[in-house]
Amino acid sequence: MKVALITGGAGFIGSHLSDLLFEKGYRIICMDNLITGNIENIKHLLKEKNFEFIKHNVTGYIKIKGKIDYVLHFASPASPADYLKFPIQTLKVGSLGTHNALGIAKAKDAKFLLASTSEVYGDPLVNPQPERYWGNVNPIGPRGVYDEAKRFAEAITMAYHRYHGLDTRIARIFNTYGPRMRKNDGRAIPNFICQALSGKPLTVYGKGRQTRSFCYISDLVGGIYKLLVSNEHSPVNIGNPNEMSLLSLVKIIISLTGSRSKIVHASLPIDDPKIRCPDISKAKRLLFWKPTVDIEEGVKETIAFFKSSLTG
Ligand code: UDP
Repeated sequence: MKVALITGGAGFIGSHLSDLLFEKGYRIICMDNLITGNIENIKHLLKEKNFEFIKHNVTGYIKIKGKIDYVLHFASPASPADYLKFPIQTLKVGSLGTHNALGIAKAKDAKFLLASTSEVYGDPLVNPQPERYWGNVNPIGPRGVYDEAKRFAEAITMAYHRYHGLDTRIARIFNTYGPRMRKNDGRAIPNFICQALSGKPLTVYGKGRQTRSFCYISDLVGGIYKLLVSNEHSPVNIGNPNEMSLLSLVKIIISLTGSRSKIVHASLPIDDPKIRCPDISKAKRLLFWKPTVDIEEGVKETIAFFKSSLTG
């Protein structure tokens, strides 16, 4: 039986990944310090004999007995609101945490997969963003704590690959949404859905002309899995190339919730990227992967999740 260590395994993406690998017959060691993760996300797995939860901050040394075949490093605050609230923890988990996760992968001779991000492209000057684009990042701005930590994480992952021969993968994850996001996580989709469902105004930052491309969680983890079992060591974008303005997203959410909420505009966060869209040619070519869930379908599922969690 293959054993996978998933750091951040109780988080939004980490818990869906735990589900996917568990269903595929892996034994899962899920590690999380629960600062932004939630034990509720993995509650259904806790009773399974092939699932183990360890509460640990991966910024500290990781000690595990027995074999590990895969290390998937997903621990990190990932919402702009969260990494502004936990700037030092974000820098530490991306740097020291990645070092520790690489260290255990090396000690166990395991394959390593890094959850990187479209934030490595910063406020991009190229659209869509291909993996060869080096980005436009402000190292000292408030988002720098996440962007630079993830850029460091990519650099140290490649160094372990080149100098220690570690079998590594780097997924550059673009905006992802779906059930298990926290209602107060601060990101656009949970904010808009929860505001629409509770009749509050939808808070659009700036004019709402900035663009994003939203990938549904089942598509995303499917892509991550394909990358994990591939032989590709250089970064691969995983995301949905359906680029839209925030105002278009708001219209979809208002229509699908049937909400009578109004829109209010608030100031745009510092260094908020004006455009973002993944070029997924590489994932299509190498992994034979592309997303299949369209925005209306994914938003409907997410609305159903928030409806039950807001009332439940
Ligand atoms: N945004 C917004 N209203 C909100 C939350 C976010 O207009 O209540 C905007 C935000 O400024 C950004 C986009 O939505 O332009 C996506 O933000 P999110 O926090 O989801 O993630 P990001 O892509 O910035 O990492």
